Amino acid sequence: MLTSINFGSRSLSDYNSIVSPGLLEELHDLAAPLNGLRVNHINATAFGGGVAEILYALAPLMEDIGLDVDWNVLFGRDEYFNVTKAIHNGLQGDERSLNDDEKKIYERYSALNAGGLKGEYDVMVIHDAQPAGIREYAADIADHWVLRIHIDLSAPNTDYLNYLLPMTTDYDAAIFHMQEYVPDDPRLPKPVIMPPAIDALAPKNIAFTPDEARRIVGLFGPDPDRPLMLQVSRFDPWKDPLGVIDAWRLVREQIPGVQLAMVGSMATDDPEGMEFYRRTVAHANGDPDIFIMSNLDNVGAIEVNAFQTHADVVLQKSIREGFGLTVSEALWKGRPIVAGDVGGIPLQVIDGETGYLVDSVEQAAERCVTIITDPVEASQMALRGKEHIRQNFLMPRLLRDYLKLFSDIGAG
Ligand code: UDP
Repeated sequence: MLTSINFGSRSLSDYNSIVSPGLLEELHDLAAPLNGLRVNHINATAFGGGVAEILYALAPLMEDIGLDVDWNVLFGRDEYFNVTKAIHNGLQGDERSLNDDEKKIYERYSALNAGGLKGEYDVMVIHDAQPAGIREYAADIADHWVLRIHIDLSAPNTDYLNYLLPMTTDYDAAIFHMQEYVPDDPRLPKPVIMPPAIDALAPKNIAFTPDEARRIVGLFGPDPDRPLMLQVSRFDPWKDPLGVIDAWRLVREQIPGVQLAMVGSMATDDPEGMEFYRRTVAHANGDPDIFIMSNLDNVGAIEVNAFQTHADVVLQKSIREGFGLTVSEALWKGRPIVAGDVGGIPLQVIDGETGYLVDSVEQAAERCVTIITDPVEASQMALRGKEHIRQNFLMPRLLRDYLKLFSDIGAG
């Protein structure tokens, strides 16, 4: 059955010295009439990817400010997750359609998960399409339902929208990262825009001293005294790991000592990720200055933090991107960034101001050389980036957006 996640606790007051006092005051004002509001977040996984990352911070902060919060993860077997993966891909444009058997599987698990829900809620927050169908079988359990979409729905395979949207007509709102991701479809519930955010208090983002970071990085092989380029990403064609290696090769022609670290999380049950990991390793061709690591090598949040803190330049050379939490993570650590001009990245990287936006391997290489050869200028740019993240992409801002939404839909 559904798994109830123990998300621990967080104290909003730990943000006192990080975000503006005005924002914290606004949060308390918004939260007062919502005191005791019963909220249940439902999503598909407790580990891996941006959604779980956000919920581990957002859920305890909501609770700390006075709401009564649960987080449930769907129950499912492979037959179900194969269908939800097809839906996930189809909503982003994949051409393969669902057959009737697959729809039946989705509906059977929606009913099963709905039946496993316990308690009564004021608001259900349904994350992405996987749990969207349960409302049909559990409408009475909550007064309000909101759908939080973490992907780009602007160019979907319409078969999937035709399947999904009738299940969501009675939702109060549909939340998107940015306006550009909202599909142009009158059946959609009221769209609301909320970009994601990172948690400055999580082990992934707490401040390390340069010495701590270099010591941890050194444990994994790179020479901490030589320049290091880094990309932290799943091994996925849209993250362009092969292009990262090509860019690094061009940089090395001008800066011979430069090294490259590629850190990517991988699930053992994700054959696509495994295959692309192998292709990345093959492309690196045994070069001793390329370090390819994953969670299978014990690289977890602390190690990702250390690499992001230590790298001379952080790349996020995506060709397609939802938001790109890794960009905010790097900027928050004051590191210069070179990133693809796609998806939510331009919200975070203002070209030439808080980092560099690029469209090609050559451009990426050129910007990396600029950064490595003029670290003083680069670090000023990165510090402006850090300020931009502080003002726009930290968790208290996302918490505020949710509290506002809960008020707006009359959930208080
Ligand atoms: N991540 C990680 N270890 C890795 C690779 C990625 O912890 O080896 C984290 C990364 O730090 C970020 C999240 O996974 O917090 C990825 O989110 P993002 O929005 O960048 O990309 P997505 O994977 O959701 O497309």
